[in-house]
Amino acid sequence: MAGVYIHIPFCKQKCSYCDFHFSTDTSYREEMMALIGQELRKRIDGIQGHPIETIYFGGGTPSLIRHSDIQEMVQEIAQHHENLSDMEVTLEANPEDMHQQTLQAWKDAGVNRLSIGVQSFDEAMLRSMNRSHSAAQASEAIQRAKRSGFSSISVDIIFGLPLEGTVPFEKVVEDFLALDVDHISAYALTLEKRTAYQHRFDKGELILPDENEVERQFTYLIDTLLEHGYEQYEVSNFAREGHISRHNSSYWSGKPYLGIGPSAHSFDGKTRRWNVANNRAYMDKMRKGEVYWETEEIESTTAFNEYLMTRSRTKWGLDLTYIQEHFNIDLLEDNKAIFDRYESCFEIKGNHLILNRKGLLLADRFASDIFQV
Ligand code: SF4
Repeated sequence: MAGVYIHIPFCKQKCSYCDFHFSTDTSYREEMMALIGQELRKRIDGIQGHPIETIYFGGGTPSLIRHSDIQEMVQEIAQHHENLSDMEVTLEANPEDMHQQTLQAWKDAGVNRLSIGVQSFDEAMLRSMNRSHSAAQASEAIQRAKRSGFSSISVDIIFGLPLEGTVPFEKVVEDFLALDVDHISAYALTLEKRTAYQHRFDKGELILPDENEVERQFTYLIDTLLEHGYEQYEVSNFAREGHISRHNSSYWSGKPYLGIGPSAHSFDGKTRRWNVANNRAYMDKMRKGEVYWETEEIESTTAFNEYLMTRSRTKWGLDLTYIQEHFNIDLLEDNKAIFDRYESCFEIKGNHLILNRKGLLLADRFASDIFQV
């Protein structure tokens, strides 16, 4: 067992771009947390003997729940792991929740890595995105977190944002660099269904940058982060030495994981399981002892496509021997025409095919061109 993911399905308010599973009604938070704790106790018992390397509190907004809930869940999992200090324990946090005492309480609970939703340093953009913090709050929160001594601090940045900002992208990147954090995750804005941005776009009120501008921003971001000592270990993830996210890397390595809470996904190496993405239904079914999840056996074709999709985005690339042994596919020989087309996008190192700088920008298209159907 590689990791445990715990989904906290509450947020203070709905960001304009977000389609994750959460509710802004927090009136039943305590009852929900009791049931999430119950699911954890029940399912963690079933994986006795599997070493747990990472815990990830994601959401939603995990920084909204009580410290005692975090502590109890970390302790519960720690009983199945010999050494808590070896474990990477990440908590996603929003800047406005990161008070000095709260940071200390998270640390005391066993959290050693923070992933902070900063997204931008442009006040106009933060308002457009309906974020619940200001740029100044984000900077101050990160300084407090650094003083609190977490082993690793990560921040999220979104690029390709609507043309409503007042600060040039280069200046926003400069502000991110000034944080001097260990890890940065960078995501291009995508319009998701049933979001405020999609709604505004459909009404012609939201103007987005064109593809060239989005690519220009991403290329600028990559260049700048590399110049400042970050390594791009996955298309969207940049780390300073020793700060690669172990939790996310294990997803890309195909390791099993346990997902707890509404909408959380689990994978045991063969079967994927996902909990109902509805808070009320999750609670109701849990209380009645009914099935609150669905499962799907992962067939070889799906497993191969998922391997391609996730691994081609990483610095470790595609293991040609693994592909031959697990899927009985000679990747290079069977896809000669495609590899000719992408000739300038990859290199072969030993038995690994690794996308280069140009290839990483095309990683998703590259993988889908090789997909098996
Ligand atoms: S981006 Fe994060 S804080 Fe905003 S609505 Fe989505 S989950 Fe909640």
